[in-house]
Amino acid sequence: MSRCKDITKQISDLTERELSFWQRMDLRTHLILCGMCRRFQANLSTIRKFANREMSSEDPSEKPMLTLEEKTRIRDAIRRQSY
Ligand SMILES: [Zn+2]
Repeated sequence: MSRCKDITKQISDLTERELSFWQRMDLRTHLILCGMCRRFQANLSTIRKFANREMSSEDPSEKPMLTLEEKTRIRDAIRRQSY
């Protein structure tokens, strides 16, 4: 699986809408076959969910804070993916 670097780049740089039909099919097929990239995608969506939560809250008093443990987990997830 030498294409993992391309795939993870596509996952992190582009939303699916920006990919062509064949790129999208290719990406999905790869994700079915490759557990490593599936995990990358799962981590990325977790990170994005946290990021959205941090930015989307209008009332600062309702803004949920990330615990130190959550921050550490996100940082570890990012570090694990940089190869
Ligand atoms: Zn892969």
